[in-house]
Amino acid sequence: MTTPTQKPQSRAGTHQPFRDRPLAVATHGGLILLMSVVAIAAPFAVLRYGEPVPSGGVIWDFSMGLGFGALGLAALQFAMTGRLRWITHPFGADIVYLSHRYLSWGAVALMLTHFGLLYVFHQPALGVLNPLEARWELTAGRVSMACFLGLIVTSQFRKQLRLPHEWWRALHLVMAVVGISAGVAHVLGVGNLTDTPAKRALWLGVTLGWVMILVWTHLIRPWQQAQNPWRVVANTPERGGVHTLELAPEGAPLHRWKPGQFAWLKIDRTPLSLIEHPFTISNAPEKGPNVAFSIKPVGDHSSALVRTPVGTRAYIDGPYGAFSIDRLPKADGFVMIAGGVGITPILSNLHALEARADTRPVILLYGNPDWEDASFRDELDTLKERLDLTLVHVIDEPPQDWHGERGPIDRNLLERHLPEHTRDWPHLMCGPGPMLDALRGHLHELGVSKWHIDYEIFELV
Ligand SMILES: Cc1cc2nc3c(=O)[nH]c(=O)nc-3n(C[C@H](O)[C@H](O)[C@H](O)COP(=O)(O)OP(=O)(O)OC[C@H]3O[C@@H](n4cnc5c(N)ncnc54)[C@H](O)[C@@H]3O)c2cc1C
Repeated sequence: MTTPTQKPQSRAGTHQPFRDRPLAVATHGGLILLMSVVAIAAPFAVLRYGEPVPSGGVIWDFSMGLGFGALGLAALQFAMTGRLRWITHPFGADIVYLSHRYLSWGAVALMLTHFGLLYVFHQPALGVLNPLEARWELTAGRVSMACFLGLIVTSQFRKQLRLPHEWWRALHLVMAVVGISAGVAHVLGVGNLTDTPAKRALWLGVTLGWVMILVWTHLIRPWQQAQNPWRVVANTPERGGVHTLELAPEGAPLHRWKPGQFAWLKIDRTPLSLIEHPFTISNAPEKGPNVAFSIKPVGDHSSALVRTPVGTRAYIDGPYGAFSIDRLPKADGFVMIAGGVGITPILSNLHALEARADTRPVILLYGNPDWEDASFRDELDTLKERLDLTLVHVIDEPPQDWHGERGPIDRNLLERHLPEHTRDWPHLMCGPGPMLDALRGHLHELGVSKWHIDYEIFELV
């Protein structure tokens, strides 16, 4: 099995009854949602406040509203993807990226409807399309719309377009910045509902907030990383082609790190580089301050990363993520299911249980294509001696003398190894997307509630 490759989907485990401080997490999440609604609605309230605005007719006014909403929603995406800890914490980074995807579609739909209504009902107001003859502010609006459409198409069809991830990311940033800048220029240039200094100040304020997020994510955070470099102190080959890189801090160690979390890793690059990759921190915080990343070579960058020489400088942005036993303190035990390199966050959680002498039972089903490539199987054997761990290897193409389970992990296999009393335990799963989809179906059939299933997908975009 290789790195999971499916698109992110809605994850079930964000409001499990086991979660620590569920009320605080729900309040935090609710507050962020409320702030998002206010961010989009505020321009309307302020623009309508004060002198009454002459109506241009229902459709005209509606279309203007859609335009403002579109721009507000688009600008909000910078906060959502800026890895701001207070936004990602209550939901988990994957949920935030998934919401970003859907909200971006929403913003583009609003933009297209704004344009479409004007095109059908107020055509003269749009003037000519030729940018050489058109009013600059209308061309700015069209540039903005083209950028956002480009963002959606390149993200949705990145693989079909054979766009390498790093090119896609650079293009994404450029189109997003140009799109928002052109959109704000369009709003200010057209001047509908922006005709007083106070209203213009509102838009400039919104723009300033957006610029501050950009400066934070692309200048201040890299500067902080530059102050806190890391050094590769070991590169250990594991089974299955995986290499574990151990990094030691040369500045501040990781702060508020929970087992099972991941971080963005830049190795042998400047902190300003856009080339960085997410990897689970495969050891436990108790074994810090050094962190370990266990990397399977699947493409150009991961293949280069596994060859990293000891002594190389690195930068880490993290930790992020919510796939952690620390969020499940009330669980009586855990079912964990891993496919291939999806074992890394589970390994980290097991190391944490071991370091804490936590004796709660764990049943781990671990699927691999073949026995020799089952990464960390020796380490798991050692953990088994120190934990209440039931370890079931499931091998797709086992050796001839194999007496264990054969893959894939299906409903019968789950029924054989997961006794009835485990149905209410949290089920933590990490593996290829199709495997997780199938497992969720089987577990539901066995009576496991979706609130007891939490899973990590190794693909954010
Ligand atoms: C939360 C999380 C935790 C992960 N933990 C591990 C781990 O512990 N061990 C491990 O081996 N792999 C892990 N991965 C997967 C790892 O990030 C990718 O395998 C790696 O980035 C592939 O890069 P590549 O250029 O070598 O391969 P490519 O062939 O270029 O990419 C393969 C796929 O990986 C994804 N990807 C590539 N580059 C990036 C990037 N810069 N940012 C985000 N996604 C990217 C894309 O979906 C791409 O389709 C994790 C991924 C996520 C999201």
